[in-house]
Amino acid sequence: MRKKTIRLERLDKRRVWHPFTQMKEWNSSAPLIIERGQGSCLIDAEGRRYLDGTASMWVNVHGHRKNKIDRAIKAQIDRIAHSTLLGLANAPSIELAEMLVKAAPNGLEKVFYSDSGSTAVEIALKIAFQYWEQTNKKNKKQRFIAFQGAYHGDTFGSMSVGEIDIFVEKYRPLLFKAFRAPYPYCYRCPLKKEPADCEMECLKAFEDILKKHGHEIAACVIEPRIQGAAGMITAPAGFLSAIRKLTNKYDVLLIADEVATGFGRTGKMFACEKEGVSPDIMCVAKGLTGGYMPLAATLTTDAVYNAFLGEYVEYKTFFHGHTYTGNPLGCAAAVANLKLLDKLFFRRLEKRIDIFAGLLDGFKGMAHVGDVRQAGMMAGVELVEDKKTKRPYLASLRTGHRVCMEARKHGLIIRPLGDTVVLMPVLSIKAAELKKMAEITGKCIRKVTEG
Ligand code: PLP
Repeated sequence: MRKKTIRLERLDKRRVWHPFTQMKEWNSSAPLIIERGQGSCLIDAEGRRYLDGTASMWVNVHGHRKNKIDRAIKAQIDRIAHSTLLGLANAPSIELAEMLVKAAPNGLEKVFYSDSGSTAVEIALKIAFQYWEQTNKKNKKQRFIAFQGAYHGDTFGSMSVGEIDIFVEKYRPLLFKAFRAPYPYCYRCPLKKEPADCEMECLKAFEDILKKHGHEIAACVIEPRIQGAAGMITAPAGFLSAIRKLTNKYDVLLIADEVATGFGRTGKMFACEKEGVSPDIMCVAKGLTGGYMPLAATLTTDAVYNAFLGEYVEYKTFFHGHTYTGNPLGCAAAVANLKLLDKLFFRRLEKRIDIFAGLLDGFKGMAHVGDVRQAGMMAGVELVEDKKTKRPYLASLRTGHRVCMEARKHGLIIRPLGDTVVLMPVLSIKAAELKKMAEITGKCIRKVTEG
C-alpha cells in the first residue's frame, strides 16, 4: 500500500497542476490523496479518515456514496453515458429540467445546461446581453452591475463581474468593466457605518448607480444572501429583496448566482426563497448533482426566452453550447439528488443548522476570532490579529492556512479564504460529526492564534 501511495505522490507532483495552488509550495509537501468517501468522511490512500469540512468544495449534499445517487448513475451507465443536446434530446435532461423548474423560484421556466458554475454565469451574462440586443431598440443596454468582493467564476465574463483582486488582477486588461456596488460586509462596512444605524446605505449607493446608468445596464449579478469566496459575507435580511425591487424599478435584469447557495445550502432549496425573490436568470451548479458530477444550469423566464425566438435567418438563436451540455449521467445524478431533497430532508436540515449555529456561537469569545458568519450550512470564522481594532493578520503569516493544516492532523479537512476559516459540511452531516468539526476547528484556531 505505501509503495503505491509513494508512486502516486511522486506522479502527482510531476504531472498534475492543481487549481488555486502555488505549485512550488505543493511540491515541497506530501499531497493528500483521497481514494474513497463515505457519508461525511473522506478516506485517503493510506486508509486514514477525515471529516469532509469543505463538502468537497461546497458541492456535497447527501454525503459520499449515497446509495440512491450511486444507483441512478449506474442505471444510466447501462443505458448510455453521453449523447449530445445539439440537435438531439435525452430523457434525464428533460426530467431534470422539469424538476428544476418546479423547485425554482416562480417565473423561471426554461433551463440551459452547462458544466460548471463559471459557465452557468457566463451563459447568464450572454443571455442577458443578447436579450436586450434583441428587444431594446431605444438604447444600448450593454453594461453589468455587480458587487464589491463578488466571485462568479474563472472564465473571462465571470471574472469581469467578479472582484477578488488576487484572482483577477493579472487579467484586468482582458476583462470588461462592470459597475460595482458595495456589498453589506457589515463587520468591515465599505461605507464605514455601523449595522445599528446604517439603514442599509449600501442600497442607496446601488440605487445611485442605477439612477444614473440604469438605461445602459443589462443586468445585475448577485450572490444571494451570502458572498461565498469573499469570505462568507452574509447580507442582512432584506438586502436581496431590496435589490430585486430596485432592478425592477430601473428595468435591469437580476441574475441570481446560486452556484454556492443552491440545493439546501442556506436551509432552503435556493437562497432567493428566503426573501421571496424571483430573479430573471438563475445560475446553479455545485450541489445540483449532490456533489457527484460536473453539471450546471442557467434558468430563465419565458419573457427572456421568447426574445430569442424567430426565423433562423433572423439569427436570434442563442449560439452557445458545450460538448457535454446536458450530459445524461450528470442529469441522472441530479434527478436522484432532487428526489432526495424532500420535506423531511429540509426539516432535518433545519435542526442541523440550529445545532451548527450553537456550535459557531462557541467561537465568538475566542481571543482572535473577529467575526463569525453563518447562512445555513455555510459559515466563516474571521480571524484577526487585534479583536478591538479588527486589525487583520499580515497575509504573509497565512494564519487561516495554518489553522486548516493543523486541522488535517486531527482528521478534519477545511480550507480558508484568506484568514476566514470556512466550515462547509455535507448537508447530511450527523450532529456528532458537526460537534467534532467545531471542536477540532476551535482547538486548531487556539493553537495557531494563541499558542
Ligand atoms: N459562482 C459562485 C457564487 C461560486 O461560489 C463559484 C465557485 O465557487 C462559481 C460561481 C464558479 O463555479 P465553478 O467553480 O463550478 O466554475
